[in-house]
Amino acid sequence: MSFDELTPAMKQYWGIKKQFPDCVLLFRMGDFYETFDKDAKIISKVLQIVLTSRGKGVKRTPLAGIPYHALDAYLYKLVKAGHKVAIIEQLEDPKKAKGIVKRGVVRIVTPGTVTEDLMLETKSNNYIMTFYGKDELGLAISDFSTGEFYVTNILASELFDEIERFSPTEIILPESYRGSETHHKLKTQNNVVVNYLPDANYWTDNAERVILDHFEIPSMNSIGINNKNIISATGGLLKYFKDTQFQKISHIKKISSYDPHQRMILDGTTLRNLEIIKNQIDGTSKNTLLSILNKTSTSMGSRNLTSWLSSPLINLNMINDRLDAVELLTKDYVLRDNLCELLSDVSDISRISTRVGLGTISPRELISLRNSLVIIPKLKHLLNNKDTVLLKSFTKLPDLADINQLITNSIIEDPPLLIRDGGMIKDGFSQELDELKLIVNDSKGWLSNFENKEKTRTGIKLRVGYNRVMGYYIEVPKHKASSVPIDYIRKSTLKNAERFITPELKEKETIILTARDKLIDKEIELYSTIIEKIKQKIIELQLISTELGQLDTLVTFAKVSVDNSYVKPKFMDDDKINVKNGRHPVVEKMVDSFVSNDINLNNSKRIMVITGSNMAGKSTSMRQVALIIIMAQAGCFVPADLVELCVFDRVFTRVGARDDIAKGQSTFMMEMVETANILNNATDRSFVILDEIGRGTSTYDGMSLAWAIVEYLNSEIKCKTMFATHYHLINLMSFKYDSIVNYNIGVKEEGSELVFLHKLMPGGTDKSYGVHVAKLAGLPNDVVFRAMEIASLLEKSDHVHHNALKNLTLEIEPDVEHKEKLETQFNIKLETETDIKEKSKKVKQTNLLMFDD
Ligand code: ADP
Repeated sequence: MSFDELTPAMKQYWGIKKQFPDCVLLFRMGDFYETFDKDAKIISKVLQIVLTSRGKGVKRTPLAGIPYHALDAYLYKLVKAGHKVAIIEQLEDPKKAKGIVKRGVVRIVTPGTVTEDLMLETKSNNYIMTFYGKDELGLAISDFSTGEFYVTNILASELFDEIERFSPTEIILPESYRGSETHHKLKTQNNVVVNYLPDANYWTDNAERVILDHFEIPSMNSIGINNKNIISATGGLLKYFKDTQFQKISHIKKISSYDPHQRMILDGTTLRNLEIIKNQIDGTSKNTLLSILNKTSTSMGSRNLTSWLSSPLINLNMINDRLDAVELLTKDYVLRDNLCELLSDVSDISRISTRVGLGTISPRELISLRNSLVIIPKLKHLLNNKDTVLLKSFTKLPDLADINQLITNSIIEDPPLLIRDGGMIKDGFSQELDELKLIVNDSKGWLSNFENKEKTRTGIKLRVGYNRVMGYYIEVPKHKASSVPIDYIRKSTLKNAERFITPELKEKETIILTARDKLIDKEIELYSTIIEKIKQKIIELQLISTELGQLDTLVTFAKVSVDNSYVKPKFMDDDKINVKNGRHPVVEKMVDSFVSNDINLNNSKRIMVITGSNMAGKSTSMRQVALIIIMAQAGCFVPADLVELCVFDRVFTRVGARDDIAKGQSTFMMEMVETANILNNATDRSFVILDEIGRGTSTYDGMSLAWAIVEYLNSEIKCKTMFATHYHLINLMSFKYDSIVNYNIGVKEEGSELVFLHKLMPGGTDKSYGVHVAKLAGLPNDVVFRAMEIASLLEKSDHVHHNALKNLTLEIEPDVEHKEKLETQFNIKLETETDIKEKSKKVKQTNLLMFDD
């Protein structure tokens, strides 16, 4: 069918579709949002609604519609399924339109730009991100629903760690990346919706113009950003917001620059392995560190806690400020309880202030904003004279008493959900409004008098009614319809009744309806002036929400510390970590009785090699130390009787074996990529846990690599390391290096059964109890027996390796001849130290991200 043959409405539809080809178009027609063609098929599938069609034969077009009042619920499903949805509204009153009603896009809804509570997780941030550059990237990250906007500059190899840390729901890429490897990796690895923006938006001049316009500033100096890649990413993201919102984005008030290196960097692997925010089983927060600690009272607190746990501090003063505040709150039960009670009345001020900025705030949310603001003076009073830096700082929060008063004076206590029909403004707020209300209310009395008067005049049991379509009418039972007075004009006929109007009622109808329309218009006008006034305070509201989120987190840290018997960690100048009776915060909640363990690592004893049976508790003992460090540096007390430690710059983990088929990588390659990342980035101030390195390859290769890796960590990096292994020959290293100590996790053999003691004990073991565990798991007897036979044979030859390794020396500068001999034997050409570092960085980078030239 040609364009000319289309109906005017369809011409209008296709005209808009051409401008927004990547969006599902919801096209408002009366009380429905209609979709056509491919979009109709999409929505019928995603929303499980009937697909119909319009037209005949070749003119047939698939069609599916949703009622306008159910938009939010349907939108949620569409956006959740990863669609970008354009909402097209009627831009004029259809009754007043000449010809086809004017329609246009009022908003494009995407996963990273939603602001409705229904579409957002209250406890987590909803980040959207974009980046620009090649080897170095400018990164812009925003939670549009709260108004937070962060920028930074990172190496391309660090990108996926930042993505993992922020876990955005949407990533915007320059158009030229469409269909690229990067796109594919983002979708498969991070399960994130990817959308595009024309490349020109990232060009420095264009990006800069968008930023200057947005903040209404004369030059970039005003916001202190001069890195070109950051300007590109920031301008790109702001442009995307503009393109999707079709209005001024007045709630994004500032850009916060951050340096990922000013916080403890927890790379994606570590966050995942330690199950800090999400578990490895279903990606939810169940059984994670977050789930144990998250007893926050507010959504802001919950989001702040997530951020503190995924980027702990490395500045000792800042850590101690948090710990001191938590300590005071653990000791002062009454204060803690009072603060919890006050905070539990606080709504999501950040998201409310965003909706103030966008003008979509409902009257009910205004009341909950007021109810949140009233706690501030009480909270300041409670914290007055509290002797810690952080708690004192909350007493400087703005009260916003004027906003509080404005809402109290203007909005009724139990307002309607929508402003559409008015009814939210309090009596006494506006004289003009009160007069209009009087007219409308008077009319109720007038109508009732009129009804009585007509009943008397006609002697008929009639009724005066109203509906939107017909207006006012007099309803008369059918059998009395013929005896109505002459001035009754028939309006409509029902099954059992006839409806009439009289000139007197018609005249009053005009007065009443005009007053009612005026009343609603006036209420809406007053409501927008109220919103405009609150808009002036968005910066203060955002400050309040950030600070309340932090206070809530501190109170929560204190609460869980008391409930779970955590202790205050003591930070020392000495380069060490000393844990007495440490526990794993999550595992201790899951087992009947948890066995605590001591750990003591310092410069002279920095590497702990742990051997022992499967299931003995090796991983748990290592992870609990990593978690204790992370909790301590996030400002929380820790699960132990005593913890003394230095500030660690990073925690690294290499745990377990996992194939990443989606990334096309074998278990062993993954293992080595992650290990290379550790060896290239750890410093003597890092804490490293390595669980079973070298298991993905042959025993000799694996053992050799494990030995060489431990040696490198010990001699070159000198970081504190816990290393669990089944290669018991690694125990020999402690004889060669004083700084390596052997531990094993106790297992008791009771008859032929194993009892796991979960207790770390000095000294290595050569028993892995692999065959025992296999028997426990129910392997057939024949297999277990055969394995015993083979193991006993192999053990006999073990002493050969034992002696060879005991005599192995480490040559810092190996002689050339020896090196060349080994290169020939292994057919490997060794590169220089710098080449290797570069290569390893690239391996990590290419495995994570393919930058397309
Ligand atoms: P390994 O790494 O030695 O195979 P894990 O650390 O994975 O062993 O521990 C196996 C299981 O043993 C854990 O899931 C937990 O149920 C239990 N466990 C581990 N450590 C302890 C402990 N200290 N106290 C009590 N139970 C523990």
